[in-house]
Amino acid sequence: LPRLALFEAVARHDADALAVVHSLSGRSFTYGRLLGDVRRARNRLLEARGKASGDDLDGERVALLVENSYDYVVALLSVLAARAIAVPLSPAFPIPELEYVLNHSEASLLVSSPKFASKAQQVLAAELTSKPAHVELPKHTESADAAAREEVPLEDSAEPGQAGLMLYTSGTTNKPKGVLLPQSVLTAQARSLHEAWEYSPSDHLLHLLPLHHIHGVVNAILTPLLAGSSIEFMFPFNADAVWNRLATPFLPASEVTTNGTTTNGNIPAVSKAPKPKVTFFTAVPTIYSRLLTTHKSLPPPIQDASREAISPSNLRLNISGSAALPTPIKTAWASLSNGNVLLERYGMTEVGMALSCGLSFADRVDASVGWPLPSVQARLVDVDSAEVILPGQEIGPDGRERSGEIQLRGPTIFKEYWHNPAATEKEFTNDNDGQGRWFKTGDVAVRRPVPTAGLNASHQPWAQGPLYFIQGRKSADIIKTGGEKVSALEIERELLSLPQVAEAAVVAVPSGAWGQKVGAVIVLDKAVADKWTPLEMRRALKSRLANYKIPQVMKVVDSIPRNAMGKINKKQLVKAIFADEH
Ligand code: ATP
Ligand code: MG
Repeated sequence: LPRLALFEAVARHDADALAVVHSLSGRSFTYGRLLGDVRRARNRLLEARGKASGDDLDGERVALLVENSYDYVVALLSVLAARAIAVPLSPAFPIPELEYVLNHSEASLLVSSPKFASKAQQVLAAELTSKPAHVELPKHTESADAAAREEVPLEDSAEPGQAGLMLYTSGTTNKPKGVLLPQSVLTAQARSLHEAWEYSPSDHLLHLLPLHHIHGVVNAILTPLLAGSSIEFMFPFNADAVWNRLATPFLPASEVTTNGTTTNGNIPAVSKAPKPKVTFFTAVPTIYSRLLTTHKSLPPPIQDASREAISPSNLRLNISGSAALPTPIKTAWASLSNGNVLLERYGMTEVGMALSCGLSFADRVDASVGWPLPSVQARLVDVDSAEVILPGQEIGPDGRERSGEIQLRGPTIFKEYWHNPAATEKEFTNDNDGQGRWFKTGDVAVRRPVPTAGLNASHQPWAQGPLYFIQGRKSADIIKTGGEKVSALEIERELLSLPQVAEAAVVAVPSGAWGQKVGAVIVLDKAVADKWTPLEMRRALKSRLANYKIPQVMKVVDSIPRNAMGKINKKQLVKAIFADEH
């Protein structure tokens, strides 16, 4: 693969090739058009800061309030082209949260789409410390290629620190932290995924994710743009509309209508305009779970056509990440799609994607997140002894499996938490061997040999050696009970494989006698909800888990609160559910 920078790569793609499609309206935009629009938008940003077109914004922060669309892609790239740092905001954020991010990032500009212009004005009316100016970018609506080639070239920033992205973490364990990802880091992340997942110009990616988190921006925008793939936005996420869209290229023309293919008249239907088949799809486990549930109630022609759409011969790659993938979801998806096995990967805001299964189905072992991705160096460090667990030392002298914190380094790792040098200092190790310090992810994993059935069948140079299995967050998922260490994720996996359990969160409940007790919060499957008691569930777990791993306290609830990425704040959950258990 040529090691091109982002703009260099975009400029080399066929100008007439499809870059972005809107599912609902059917509008489409080419790479040639994109470059022209990015140049124009970049000049608007410079103008708003009183600069000439040959100038740049030298690392100023530019906040984005734009819906998932071509307009977002133009806005994001124009900020990088102006050598500024893009700070994507969620249009769903309430005003105080927008205020917090604008103040914290000290943004000098707030770029909005026409749709969110009044929301932008509303937040700018507040007392903001950095007094950002408002730039409303035009809505790009024509499908025709209107790109007038302009003279100002778009270049990737050579100086790290001048251009980049600032993303806030999901806020699962604490207040979201601002993570600074210079353009050099973003390019390294995109190149790594390009190589590992083999994005190509013939890939068409369906995009359903929020655009203020790394998964939606790096995996599903920057990497496809680097590779010359096309991106189709459907937002907000609607499971029926997704099935409708996936099915469309596989339905006879007479069956494709603008609203007749939905199960319910209120669901936004995909446009009639012919669309490429979707070859690539990346989502979080909760999205797969909702898709599986809705599929059952689709009209039969859509059911059949969408099953064909997600079969391995049509959907080349379907990826899950951002939270642990429950095995029943993986199994159900494989059976629905006639054998398409979800690829699980592990990543975080600070590092992009770090571990991933390979392209061969045989290597996608249940519960495993695979191997360190290209250019990522990973190691496991024993949490108690601080010893590095070297390859071959995965089993301790006592015959037990050793778990360790995942530590990472390499060109894909972030540089700093914005305006928080203390946090940055704390999260990197001191053992500097000249090759850079290691970032302490706070996540714990074990390494196990590849089962003989899989045997590193991907044959990708990076997809070799023992597999990583995530045990959970050091701070919330590793439960110490009566001298034993147990992984909440492992127990959740077993709970979720009981047919009566729809959702499960395992937590550490403070206990005088045990130090911590294993607690479980459960949502029962509606169909059988009245037939099961916690006692019966504990009995059902006996054949699957060692005694000390079986939850001592169990609460059945109607729903478990999750954030935008489908994650659970366990500290809050323990407080809310087990307050009386101490
Ligand atoms: P905060 O840092 O604000 O508490 P967060 O850690 O959830 O929030 P993100 O950076 O979006 O914010 O998420 C990264 C975390 O998501 C990882 O540290 C890990 O705990 C979890 N994660 C990501 N992928 C997986 C996976 N495949 N399996 C299990 N956990 C995963
Ligand atoms: Mg985190």
